[in-house]
Amino acid sequence: MRILRWGRWLGDGVEFRHALTYAAFGVRGSGKSTLLEHIAQEFLSGGCPVLDIFGSRDGEGLAWLRSPWVTENDKRVLLLHGDNTNVSSPWDSKPASKYTVDDLQRYDLVISASPLYSSIDVEYSQINKVIDEVYSRVVWRTPAYLLIREAANLLYSRMKVSSDQTLAKAQLTYFTREARHCGFSLGLDTQKLSSIDVDVRITFDYIFFKSLGIYGLPSDLSWLYSFYRPARLQRMPVDMFVLLTGRGSHGVGIFPYHDWHKQAGEDILKAVGVEVDHGELIVETKPARVVGDLQHAQMIQMRQDGFNYREISEALKVSKSTPWTHIHAHNEEVRRTGSCSRCRRAKSPLVDKIVGEGGGLPQDSIKTPTVRP
Ligand SMILES: [Zn+2]
Repeated sequence: MRILRWGRWLGDGVEFRHALTYAAFGVRGSGKSTLLEHIAQEFLSGGCPVLDIFGSRDGEGLAWLRSPWVTENDKRVLLLHGDNTNVSSPWDSKPASKYTVDDLQRYDLVISASPLYSSIDVEYSQINKVIDEVYSRVVWRTPAYLLIREAANLLYSRMKVSSDQTLAKAQLTYFTREARHCGFSLGLDTQKLSSIDVDVRITFDYIFFKSLGIYGLPSDLSWLYSFYRPARLQRMPVDMFVLLTGRGSHGVGIFPYHDWHKQAGEDILKAVGVEVDHGELIVETKPARVVGDLQHAQMIQMRQDGFNYREISEALKVSKSTPWTHIHAHNEEVRRTGSCSRCRRAKSPLVDKIVGEGGGLPQDSIKTPTVRP
């Protein structure tokens, strides 16, 4: 990329060798994800691995598979998918839940895209493994670039593992600050600057403005209007941007717009030759304390291992009556149909086993079992 004209220059510039945070803001179709892909290519050419996660349901991250990096330069690719999804393609693939930070030494490009998960719920939940693994990268020589398409998804995803929205937000702020210490450059894409807290925004080293549409700049950055006409910021060519650096320099620049980027409405799976087969949809545990399939299977397993109802409820942080309810519903379904549908979805080895029911329910918590089939 190239800066055509600095509005103010304080001696810095854009660089792609260190663990830095790059954010792109703009409306849909403004070319912000292409810009973040361009930055990813700068890291790839410096020998740094790239992780590409989230993005819209149409799976734009998979467009990498037809880029010259893969078709000509033989960059090693790993596709991450949901636990219940099978992927067949010429590239390596594994469930996101099995991803470890060591994969960044074996692969140049690690891609997790929505079509490789049976639902958005499953994707948001299972991608947390990739986020958590960021903190495990204690030893590193070159930075890795983590491209997060639509950064708001990161927050939704954290809310899958944290019942508290404030806590999820705090985790996100911590993440954007700490990622660099673990050798991760971040590329964050978002449609509205105001959807990103100021706490997170001040950790950005570079903010790229693409076409901002009718929302324009947030009030704390409106001073940029005295350098750049509102009409220019509202609409600009897809290969153009206005850059603001963490140090306070700003200018207008351009980047080479690559042609392998996913087109609107294109069936990208077909275009790159990836086939997916989703197994039965798993019901995830929600923070609202609805018990999901995995937690159900865990209760059955703990019961089988000899824990009593109170120990199970304490260990899994569910109400006192929940283990009793689930164990009885499980046994009942196994007696009636030969297997438990929740355990089947969770791939539990106890899918057709009756577990002990003795011990009874604590007197103060008797209620009608309300287990969904
Ligand atoms: Zn069961």
